Amino acid sequence: MSTDSYHSRENPADGDGIDSACFDGPGDSSITDLRHDLQAFREGVRAWVRKVAPPEQAHRWQQAKGAAQVEVQRWWMRERNKVGLATPHWPREYGGAGLNLEHQIIIADEFARADAPETSAFTVAMNHIPATLIPYGTEHQKRKYLPTVAQGTVWCQGFSEPGAGSDLAALQTRAVRDGDHYVINGQKIWSSHSMYASWAILLARTDPEARKQAGISYFILDMKAPGVEVRPIRKSTGASNFAELFLTDVRIPIEDRVGEENEGWAVAQATLSAERGVLAFDRLERERATLQRYYERELVSNAAWLKDDQLRREFMRLFAEQHAVRRQIRALLRETREPGVWSMTPSLVKLLSSSLRTRLAELQLRIAGMEGQKIGPQDTVLPVPMYDYLDSYGSTISAGANEIQRNLIAERGLAMPRG
Ligand SMILES: Cc1cc2nc3c(=O)[nH]c(=O)nc-3n(C[C@H](O)[C@H](O)[C@H](O)COP(=O)(O)OP(=O)(O)OC[C@H]3O[C@@H](n4cnc5c(N)ncnc54)[C@H](O)[C@@H]3O)c2cc1C
Repeated sequence: MSTDSYHSRENPADGDGIDSACFDGPGDSSITDLRHDLQAFREGVRAWVRKVAPPEQAHRWQQAKGAAQVEVQRWWMRERNKVGLATPHWPREYGGAGLNLEHQIIIADEFARADAPETSAFTVAMNHIPATLIPYGTEHQKRKYLPTVAQGTVWCQGFSEPGAGSDLAALQTRAVRDGDHYVINGQKIWSSHSMYASWAILLARTDPEARKQAGISYFILDMKAPGVEVRPIRKSTGASNFAELFLTDVRIPIEDRVGEENEGWAVAQATLSAERGVLAFDRLERERATLQRYYERELVSNAAWLKDDQLRREFMRLFAEQHAVRRQIRALLRETREPGVWSMTPSLVKLLSSSLRTRLAELQLRIAGMEGQKIGPQDTVLPVPMYDYLDSYGSTISAGANEIQRNLIAERGLAMPRG
């Protein structure tokens, strides 16, 4: 497989015909000025990423864990911000560069090929926050909060509770109006990267008498506010990148409510739909590049499994499926939708990409054999295939479990009768 074998010959957004080794790129500040020529834009991004995050330094972000990993990611966001590539497709007035989808695809593709630092700690900041605040936030909220993302501010999501996951509308955290503030009491769980976050998006019940969905409001929570306690949860991989949030008499100013009181459920749908589709985009580009590098390394080392017809067939089938899901995500990104209009594509993308991830991890674990599965009693870091395998299951649960996505596709998307 050659590097460019997955790209169409027609579309410059798909990256053909560029010899990066020979390219003498433009000055950094001119990258976004190249927006009208997609080929030149790609070359500019490629030259910049090779300069700022060269492959020789990749160990810095590949080996960093926990807080050190988040620090590398903050550094990466600030570097990107210097050249307009942190939140490039956002409107200029909110910290973006006003670029379009084709540029976004090119950036994701080039970052993945270069094995540049990932931005998992910025998942909520880069996806959920614009998807929510741009349609539903006040002008004050947009101008105050959106530009902070490009400057390296981490956000987290406080939706799930111990008794409200799949049935999110059962949430019990209370918000009681007290003058120009709300007073929040309750508990949230599984809040990814909340230990590093400056701000959270939060759902709380403002009317306990109303029908479930009808009594919920949507807030922006300052994670440094008195009464916010964050307790990390350890995963089966040994990592702790999500946490419980305990909220005791936390005060949120009224201007940090998003949407009207008791109408937070509709706002939350915008957040959830971004979470289910679009955020798989960057990750899938990266997984595709990683898988390709893996295969090329295995070819060079003449790995034993390559002689096994069955394993090779399975690998190629999954590789092809991965490509198909990438195409599906691009279709999703091109879908123009009014806020509040439901589409089943985000659920389809979430379902396909997360189950593909577990099947790929499982295959790589089988390929690695006993070495990939060995965990000693003193081991704090799992072998990569085992770590990836265990970690992959999280994506079948997060952003709404896959069973729920199947229900949504069947009932709302295909109008099938409820089981
Ligand atoms: C890695 C990871 C990161 C996460 N990050 C965040 C975050 O940042 N912020 C946040 O708020 N939450 C986060 N979550 C929480 C996530 O949204 C919930 O775990 C998810 O919605 C499922 O809820 P639950 O865990 O309470 O399981 P439950 O709702 O109790 O479900 C348990 C099982 O029952 C099945 N089930 C439940 N109801 C039905 C039904 N009607 N039909 C068929 N099957 C059903 C589910 O599919 C699941 O298999 C994260 C979770 C994970 C794993």
